[in-house]
Parts: sequence; structure tokens; C-alpha cells
Amino acid sequence: MLSVQPDTKPKGCAGCNRKIKDRYLLKALDKYWHEDCLKCACCDCRLGEVGSTLYTKANLILCRRDYLRLFGVTGNCAACSKLIPAFEMVMRAKDNVYHLDCFACQLCNQRTKRLYSK
Ligand SMILES: [Zn+2]
Ligand SMILES: [Zn+2]
Ligand SMILES: [Zn+2]
Repeated sequence: MLSVQPDTKPKGCAGCNRKIKDRYLLKALDKYWHEDCLKCACCDCRLGEVGSTLYTKANLILCRRDYLRLFGVTGNCAACSKLIPAFEMVMRAKDNVYHLDCFACQLCNQRTKRLYSK
């Protein structure tokens, strides 16, 4: 017969991989974290604080602000009219935004080199 024991072993922190001996540990994403380790991958703000919302994408843990900045959209490319994710490098000309790949010199039609790849 199975008996469920209270789990008293120290948990490993998913952020720093050290054992969590603090009195308070955070559980998020089915993992345990030190209060200081659960933080936004961009701005380092602590996500364990009450009321902060935590977003994850592509193995990143982000605060709401950075999530929107990174994974929101910039707008539509003036060349191909597809959406441009906010984290992509863009070319801006006047009021238009372009994918780097779509932006071509108006004079020589030479496409710019791709500077940024995911
Ligand atoms: Zn930690
Ligand atoms: Zn952040
Ligand atoms: Zn485009």
C-alpha cells in the first residue's frame, strides 16, 4: 500500500539549482524557486511578489511588461504586410516598418544582410 509522506526534503531551485533552505519557497511552473531566483529574464524584477504575473515563452520567464515588449507585435511590414514580432529587429523608414529581410535599398535594390537570427 502506498503511503504519502510529507515531502520534507529540501527542494532544488529551478533557477540556480541549489537547494532551497529558505522558509519560503515559490512554486511556479511545477518547479520550486528561491524568492530571489524567480525573476524576469529581461529586467530582473522579482516575479514572486504578490500580484505580479509571470509569463513564459521559449524557456524564458518574463514579467508582463517584457513579455509584451518581446512577444507583442511591432506592426505590419510595409513590404510583405506580415506582422512583425516586437522582438525582431526592424528597419524603419518614415512611418513604415520593415522586416530586415524585406527592407531593400530603394536605389540599388540590394537587400540588407540579415543581422539577427532567432
Ligand atoms: Zn535559486
Ligand atoms: Zn521584466
Ligand atoms: Zn516583411
